[in-house]
Amino acid sequence: MSPCGRTDEATKTTTLDRTPKDTADDEESGRYTFLPGRPRWHGRTLLTYAVSTTATVEYIPLSTVRAVVRTAFARWADVIPMRFVEADRLYNDNDPDITLGFHPFTGGKCAGCGTSDGYDGAKTLAHSSRPMQGWIHVNTAWRWTVNLDVDMDPSAYDLESIVIHEIGHVLGLDHSTSLTSVMYKSFDYRTKKIKLNIYDVLGIQELYGATRYFSFKSYFKQELLRHNQRQEEEKRKRSFWRRGLAYILPSGIAS
Ligand SMILES: [Zn+2]
Ligand SMILES: [Zn+2]
Repeated sequence: MSPCGRTDEATKTTTLDRTPKDTADDEESGRYTFLPGRPRWHGRTLLTYAVSTTATVEYIPLSTVRAVVRTAFARWADVIPMRFVEADRLYNDNDPDITLGFHPFTGGKCAGCGTSDGYDGAKTLAHSSRPMQGWIHVNTAWRWTVNLDVDMDPSAYDLESIVIHEIGHVLGLDHSTSLTSVMYKSFDYRTKKIKLNIYDVLGIQELYGATRYFSFKSYFKQELLRHNQRQEEEKRKRSFWRRGLAYILPSGIAS
């Protein structure tokens, strides 16, 4: 079990650990879970967000980070009746509901909020608040990338995948035991996981309801097609073996 700060009640933070894989994956329970106390952005249908213009990494242009964050929010907005709007477009005078920035976690302490993650070295990838606070701090110690095809760094982490995960926390989701969930508790380098799985959708919709015309059938169309194809394939294999046995049995096995 990888250590994870999501139960860090004192500071109300959740931490995405970088442990690549958890072998004792429990597929039976907790396919989606909520943060302790089941917090959510009650009564809200629009949340504003902002990407810090100062807490950045020099190797990714700010405009690119903003584009990635916009896409990440949009993936959640696809399934729940919540709009996410970049703050400076609408509310110049108000504080944004959610902020995102890159911060060093020197000596295990996040420079963005002063929270200690309990690790001496750089182990935390990112951490985030629960509703109705709204912040996401990404650890500058890691190499972040917005394009794994171009960035050949052997230990680069996909920024969009991590931001999607952290937004899930900010909206009230805790970790999932489903390996394909964007809320799975650990995350591999050089992998991209940006599509909400069935448990992500069920969990977030339990908190906020479904978008008006949401249909599981069309949202998971590709998955369903693949699933059906696999079943067809299985069926074909089974009938092949049945036919095969029919030939073998009468003469091959006498008694
Ligand atoms: Zn997490
Ligand atoms: Zn922090």
